[in-house]
Formats: sequence, structure tokens, C-alpha cells
Amino acid sequence: MKAVFLDRDGTLGGDGYGTHPDKFEMFDFAPEAVKALNNEGVKVVLFTNQSRIGRGYFTEEELLEGFTRMKTELAAHSAYIDAIYYCPHHPKDDCDCRKPNIGLLEQAKQELQLDLEKSFVVGDTGGSDMLAASRAGTRMVLVKTGRGEGSLTKFKDHWPGIEPDHIAEDVLDAAMWIVQQLKKEK
Ligand SMILES: [Mg+2]
Ligand SMILES: [Zn+2]
Repeated sequence: MKAVFLDRDGTLGGDGYGTHPDKFEMFDFAPEAVKALNNEGVKVVLFTNQSRIGRGYFTEEELLEGFTRMKTELAAHSAYIDAIYYCPHHPKDDCDCRKPNIGLLEQAKQELQLDLEKSFVVGDTGGSDMLAASRAGTRMVLVKTGRGEGSLTKFKDHWPGIEPDHIAEDVLDAAMWIVQQLKKEK
């Protein structure tokens, strides 16, 4: 089974920094992107660092309520997310799930029986999303929204030597490119 892992902040919406779940808003085109991936029969998986739980800015319960609202909004567009994986830890906790570590990807691989080499990661941050993708051996698409432009310039040294398979304007552009790849593989 193939999956497309989508980052939340800066990729599906928000500004690339850990937005409070009550304030997080998806980009208008995000549901269309998710729906296009749903139509290809791949698992659509949200994977996100939420260290502001560990830092005490909001609770895990508030995060989960935010996810529920997101799912409701997606459902209104006939789009759905198959699974959500998040890291709630403070960076100092040194956990194995905080991106660029690959604990979330490994957990999803086990639970959803995924072939990571045939899966994709879509994210805006080179030093977390792209680095995790590279370590886990998935294909990767960097979006220019959120922290994407900075990842390509000022912060390229956070993910040296890694080249995304595609650089997309936004998550909809990323989804369209992935759909093309998936159709070629059928
Ligand atoms: Mg992000
Ligand atoms: Zn963690």
C-alpha cells in the first residue's frame, strides 16, 4: 500500500509555525488536494510535529478537537484523511517521533502496511519533513507555502545534499504531481 504523508502547518494551511488548533485554518485548495489523492486509492496520512503541547501552549485534547474540525471540513468536500500521526513532545524530550526522526513514518508503515519507498512525503520544511522523508526512503515533495521558500534558501543548510523529487507551489500542485506519478505506475 502506498501513502501520501501530508504535513499540517505550512502545507495544509496555517503559516508554517505551530498554530493553535483553534486558529488553524486550511488553505482553500487543501480539500481538493486531499480529494485528488483519495481518488487514486492511496492512504492519505497527516503527520505533524506539535511540540507546543510539550511546551504547554495547548493541550493534546485541543489538538484532537482541531483535527476533528479539519476532518469535518474535509468531509464537506468529500475528502478524507485515513490516519493522523503527531508528535506531542518538546524537542528536549529527544523522542524518536519528532520529525526529522522517522518514528511517525515507521508507526504508520506498521499500522497501515505501507511500502515507504513507494510513498510520498509532502511538507514545507526541509530540516524536518524532507530530512525525515530522506531517512525513511520515501519520495518527497517540498511545497513553497509556509516555510517552503525559506527551506530552499536561508535554511538549505538544515537539509544538505537532499533534493526533493518535486518542488510544488502548494499542496494542490503537489497532489497533482503525485497523481501523475501514481497513474504512470498503474
Ligand atoms: Mg510544516
Ligand atoms: Zn515525539
